[in-house]
Amino acid sequence: MLKKIQDCVIIGSGPAGYSAAIYASRADLHPILFVGFQPGGQLTTTTSIDNYLGFPAGISGIDFMENCKKQAERFNTLIIDQSVTNVFLSNQKGGIHRIFFEKEKECLKSRGVIIATGSSPKFLGIDREKELIGLGVSFCATCDGFFHKGKEVAVIGGGDTALEEANYLSKICKKVYLIVRKNYLRASKILQSHISKRNNVNVLFCSNITKIIGNDFLEGIKIFNHENKTITTLLISGLFIAIGHIPNTEIFKNKLDLDDRGYVIVKKGSTMTNKPGVFAAGDVQDPNYRQAITSAGTGCMAALDLERYLYHEKME
Ligand code: FAD
Repeated sequence: MLKKIQDCVIIGSGPAGYSAAIYASRADLHPILFVGFQPGGQLTTTTSIDNYLGFPAGISGIDFMENCKKQAERFNTLIIDQSVTNVFLSNQKGGIHRIFFEKEKECLKSRGVIIATGSSPKFLGIDREKELIGLGVSFCATCDGFFHKGKEVAVIGGGDTALEEANYLSKICKKVYLIVRKNYLRASKILQSHISKRNNVNVLFCSNITKIIGNDFLEGIKIFNHENKTITTLLISGLFIAIGHIPNTEIFKNKLDLDDRGYVIVKKGSTMTNKPGVFAAGDVQDPNYRQAITSAGTGCMAALDLERYLYHEKME
């Protein structure tokens, strides 16, 4: 039986959402969690997670997120298999927020909201890209670089993220091709200077990927140079797509302070947004680290921040 006014509604079912749910339910906040368009979040698209603490043999992304769900259910989190379609966020301290779902027919009222809607990596939009995620195609060098130790890989993109990925990979891989669409790099000068010092990074300007080669796993790519109109085949074991992420904040536009890229702005060292009782955790507020463990960490912080907020509200 649902209360008339909830204490904690969590939007999102990635590591941030489930971590917040576990902490909030153990603090008797009876959280309700909305699963959204991607049950389990981004990790469900990866075959193996090898960098999350506590899994010495690694674990598949689907198994990991299934475990997170079971753990949240064990403490009686109510999980709703729907997307939030709209929110009304109160400006008042102690105010009641409204969370709409199922095409605005229904609405939950809650004193506290934890936004854990994550982000989505941008795709190139070419054949085999999605099928080979975790089988050579990756969106995260820190996560998957290790599998390509001593091998040749390519990074796509010319911004800060792409250069950071290329820099990281250059320390463990034999050779890194940095494939850049334009004839210049958008990344900061300092990152460009780091890359220019790595003699195993080969920057290919004016180039687009036209084909991903490989059936069961990535074997190579074809590159078209639109300046000299040549096609080159690169035999690589890893393709790191670093052309950006889009935070899933469409429903929060004009309702919450977002930065110019759309990430939720939180107060430094906390998960507090500019609306009282509304907290944000995970990739949706983090353009920088974007890891499962940092998302789970900030999910925990959001639940603790909300618990303290509600406690102070009661005391006042
Ligand atoms: P997400 O995992 O992005 O989850 C967001 C959730 O919000 C989803 O459940 C979605 O359905 C939900 N949602 C969105 N909008 C709504 C809405 N309107 N209503 C309700 N719900 C909504 N990190 C690692 O640490 N190790 C790895 O090995 C690793 N591998 C990766 C491999 C791939 C292919 C990718 C793409 C990422 C990988 N990452 C890895 C990064 C990691 O997946 C993310 O950092 C992490 O999942 C972010 O967690 P999150 O909870 O913030 O958001």
